[in-house]
Amino acid sequence: MLVVMSSYATEEEIAQVVMAIEQQGNVARVIQGGERTAIGILQNRGPVDPAPFLLLPGVKETIPVSKPYKLVSREFEQTDTIVTLGDVAIGGDHFVIIAGPCAVESETQALTIGRAVRSQGARLYRGGAYKPRTSPYSFQGLGEEGLKILAKVREETGLYIVTEAMDREQCDLVEEYADIIQIGARNMQNFSLLNRAGEARKPVLLKRGLSATIQEWLMAAEYIMAKGNRNVILCERGVRTFADHSRNTLDLSAIPVVKQESHLPVIADPSHACGRRDQVIPMSKASVAAGTHGLMVEVHHEPEKALSDGQQALFPTQFTQMVNEILPILTEKQRRRLLEDRNQRADGS
Ligand code: PEP
Ligand code: MN
Repeated sequence: MLVVMSSYATEEEIAQVVMAIEQQGNVARVIQGGERTAIGILQNRGPVDPAPFLLLPGVKETIPVSKPYKLVSREFEQTDTIVTLGDVAIGGDHFVIIAGPCAVESETQALTIGRAVRSQGARLYRGGAYKPRTSPYSFQGLGEEGLKILAKVREETGLYIVTEAMDREQCDLVEEYADIIQIGARNMQNFSLLNRAGEARKPVLLKRGLSATIQEWLMAAEYIMAKGNRNVILCERGVRTFADHSRNTLDLSAIPVVKQESHLPVIADPSHACGRRDQVIPMSKASVAAGTHGLMVEVHHEPEKALSDGQQALFPTQFTQMVNEILPILTEKQRRRLLEDRNQRADGS
């Protein structure tokens, strides 16, 4: 349940509601909205009776939250969450492109790709320093050296960095070097990692698990928010189905559903969903049409030499083509912004 305070409620009145919630053995979370303060009742085992709260001074109304996820739900927060990094906004009516290689392989590789994607309007750079690989014999990532290269990419290109932490220990270093901490599909229900990410001072990009329902995915986001981190970005990256014409199946319908259920931004990763570069551009366009807040795509200047996921990486020229093809589908405001980002780089500014 949500206890909504009137706009002129005092600090004491808010504190009184918090105390009343805690006296019932529940957890209170004060949410400072734009116009009003609401207090969420968390961890209650059964339904909560609204009557005693409605009698307290300063309380305007109570709203039952019917979903198991609370902090991430639209019922809790109607206004879209917008995650900001400098002048880059993710969520609401903004659109963002995150691009880069699957893995950081060398400084030359990382920078070459960084410059290419930045020149086409990408504002964030992806690239794994720690790679979750199916085989223990595959390239596992450069570790801290990879993080240092990512920091160099940011310095040279102005791109913000998104990179994965596979466990709590890696989270310390990733938090230090990156702008956004990625939690991979295989770790969506690593609750210990989710709790750690919830304590981080950086935003978190949470990928949907390989066979997770939307409810399970949102509950994973709830773990992060329940620890106090409000900057969570969801990422649809395809789910496992019977289909064998692509690596996974991009669940496009998840995008409008998540936007309806949650105030958090949701982006799409057609690269990991398709697993083949020839499907990435069409599915990027489809994701934009479905209302995604952004795209995360893999790009490599020499995909035939890539140490991971080369078959799904777009060539830089294809990345340019992708940007050109999504432009007409974006809203007028999003298109203007993307063109500005692209032209700025063409000017060398
Ligand atoms: C990635 O984005 O680098 C990655 C490993 O993706 P996923 O967790 O979605 O498989
Ligand atoms: Mn990859």
